[in-house]
Amino acid sequence: MVRKIQNLIGGEWISGSQAEVHQIINPNNGVTTEYELNYSTEEDVDKAVAVAKEAFPAWRNTSVVKRCRILFHVKELLEQSMDELAETLSRENGKTVGEAAGSIRRGIEVVEFAAGMPSLSKGDFIENIAGEVDGYIYREPLGVVVGGCPFNFPGMIPMWMIPVALACGNTFILKPSEKCPATATKLVEIFKAGGIPDGVLNLVQGDAVAFNRLITHKDVKAISFVGSTPVAKHVWETGTSHGKRVQALGGAKNYIIVMPDASPKETVNAIIGSSYGCAGERCMASSILLLVGEAEKLLNQVVEAAKNIKVGDVADSSTQMGPLVTPEHKERVLEYIKIGVNEGANLILDGREVTVEGKEKGNFVGPTIFDNVNVDMRIAKEEIFGPVLSVMRATNLGEAIEMANTSLFGNGGSIFTESGTAAREFRTKVECGMLGINTGVPAPMAFFSFGGHKNSFFGDLRAHGPDGVEFYTKKKAIIEQWNGGKASESIWGK
Ligand code: NAD
Repeated sequence: MVRKIQNLIGGEWISGSQAEVHQIINPNNGVTTEYELNYSTEEDVDKAVAVAKEAFPAWRNTSVVKRCRILFHVKELLEQSMDELAETLSRENGKTVGEAAGSIRRGIEVVEFAAGMPSLSKGDFIENIAGEVDGYIYREPLGVVVGGCPFNFPGMIPMWMIPVALACGNTFILKPSEKCPATATKLVEIFKAGGIPDGVLNLVQGDAVAFNRLITHKDVKAISFVGSTPVAKHVWETGTSHGKRVQALGGAKNYIIVMPDASPKETVNAIIGSSYGCAGERCMASSILLLVGEAEKLLNQVVEAAKNIKVGDVADSSTQMGPLVTPEHKERVLEYIKIGVNEGANLILDGREVTVEGKEKGNFVGPTIFDNVNVDMRIAKEEIFGPVLSVMRATNLGEAIEMANTSLFGNGGSIFTESGTAAREFRTKVECGMLGINTGVPAPMAFFSFGGHKNSFFGDLRAHGPDGVEFYTKKKAIIEQWNGGKASESIWGK
């Protein structure tokens, strides 16, 4: 049965108004149409903004304790719906069901974090800032805020935004990826069922037409965005030039540096998990393996382990790597493999011929490894976003860090070593927002803020954690005196 994906505007489910019907084909088999949707028009977006604006005063005046009580209920419903969410995600995105469930868990942790908003959003008070004059500062929500999301974590990334924005007292409009709209739709259904009032959380489906209307709309106060670097930059430039607060997380090209003293088994496992988990469609995936000195002896083990990854049907619990999201994305990855060959890199593991029995039309690409890559090659500089690992070599840590820092991206990076001194040098000198020390995926954790450096992030305040609270609120400072304005000391006194 083909399910219809709709907008949620002011509590009502209604299809986007563009005439063309778009289909979401299951990436695992390449034939089943799972969902259909019509994209939204600018008029649909205007309606969503109008209802979110109308719902704002009542939601803002709902006590933070009550707002969070609703989030506790939402969290319970999310737990109960975990299997359904994971299956939906897998069906539209191609992650294995286990990977999908793991990503939903990371999202639920943000709901748990945001449910602590009474403590997180407390202000400050100073008694007697001057004699009988008190000073305090507190936070207010911004109003209507919006979120634009990528295809690769269609459940987790909306949850980086929605719970924190709502707990702070804002109303929200979500624009999911048009490639994977179903998981976000299920999520919004759950938030609604949990008691989020009509108009407080809205959903508009569609592509750039819908999102560009949202980021330029006069009644939108802030924009959260996660996606590729060119679009993140466009969203940041357009949003800020329209007077909005913007946090825009972009693409990645993450290095793993392996020192000669790294613990071999754990390091190889971590490289495999980081490079090929979620078929490499992860902004924290390592796509460059930088072997320092004798660490090059690990390469054979990495290649053997990559060969042994079970690529297959996501419904099979023994599958370790599923398909890519769309045939177009598969083509893009295959094109990069061709580019690497033409650039003279040494293709030591070729995933192009991998097929899965019974799923011949699925978007599968097997683990791929290039050796002898250098920092000037396109496969070293550009984000491929697939299961392709490029191997380079350095003679010492200093040279390795210098090579990693040539990247225009600065999302994540990892080092494997038994030396605290090396780890400290790496941590201090490498130009990235998220670092792993003996871990291949410095994953987003709800209670810390998440975002890269350089072309991986545009803005000041990063996603969720304390920055999220800061991003979705503005502060007011009050100087207050009573007793008829006859304070014992003037705040202007010398
Ligand atoms: P994308 O940039 O193509 O699309 C993201 C969103 O932007 C979608 O909702 C899309 O509809 C919208 N969009 C696309 N073009 C637009 C335009 N011209 N104007 C306005 N909106 C537009 O990204 P994607 O392919 O869906 O996702 C993969 C990318 O996301 C990768 O680059 C990956 O590194 C990045 N990503 C980054 C993080 C992070 O934390 N930094 C996390 C996940 C994914």
